[in-house]
Amino acid sequence: MTARSIIDHHVKQACETNRFEHKDQVLRFAVKMTAAVTIIADILNLAAHVSLNALGLLPYALLPAAIVGLVISTVVASVLTFSVIYVIGLAIHRLTISRAMFERLSRTDMLSGLLNRRAFVDEVSKAPQDASLVLFDIDRFKFINDTYGHDVGDRAICMVSRQLAATLSDKHIVARIGGEEFAALIVELTPTERLALVERCRQMIEASNVGDDVAHLRVTVSAGIAERSSHDTFQSLFLRSDRALYLAKASGRNRVIHSDQVQELMDKSGEGLYAS
Ligand code: GH3
Ligand code: MG
Ligand code: MG
Repeated sequence: MTARSIIDHHVKQACETNRFEHKDQVLRFAVKMTAAVTIIADILNLAAHVSLNALGLLPYALLPAAIVGLVISTVVASVLTFSVIYVIGLAIHRLTISRAMFERLSRTDMLSGLLNRRAFVDEVSKAPQDASLVLFDIDRFKFINDTYGHDVGDRAICMVSRQLAATLSDKHIVARIGGEEFAALIVELTPTERLALVERCRQMIEASNVGDDVAHLRVTVSAGIAERSSHDTFQSLFLRSDRALYLAKASGRNRVIHSDQVQELMDKSGEGLYAS
């Protein structure tokens, strides 16, 4: 392996992984590379002296010439290598930081701070199979906007986001997937416990204030929940939760409906709420 291929290999690795996330990683890498390159430079220098001496081309005695040569190659190789690697490493470090920031921004909903729809779909694809998908939708949100203004509407979205994030721990996935629509993938637990957790979210939101200036404003959500099965695509799972949500709206709002209840509720309603 030549010095060039060693540097090439390490730089490539650093770019592909987040190896230069911190400045001290850059420093450690520069010191390691400097040591490696300096040793290689010294070996080559020594080999050149020995070869020239064997060919009778060295105009000085081998030992003092090799010592002077080694001092020079050590100083030059280490100073040059450290400067170049450290400067390149810092540039990669800055790129790594801005890439991570860009990635975070592209996955985050700016108003609520929750994941956005794209990130949610991505996270769901990596989540365990045994899970429930919940769709939440703020009730009569247009009325809130029209009556209290968009600013209060935005604050209501933030309040709902906070309650969802606080009630559903980090192992679950929560996102704002549209204007006043939220989604959560609830993992682990039993289906009954998951349903109870969603009901708790609904209650927490109902009991929360948007602010002292609108203390009398009650914000509620409706939710539809469906169990993920092994043959589900994201679309089919989403559709079942969405139907349950539709039914939660149609049957009075501020409630949680499980997709298993959809058929039964539709039969009870007689006229049927869906065309299909
Ligand atoms: P339902 O109970 O059936 O869900 O009725 P709704 O009024 O909540 O539903 P609708 O879809 O009629 O209204 C949603 C409104 O949400 C319309 C849109 O202007 C508003 N909206 C969407 N995104 C935002 C946002 O980021 N901020 C605010 N303040 N309003 C938003
Ligand atoms: Mg909606
Ligand atoms: Mg709504």
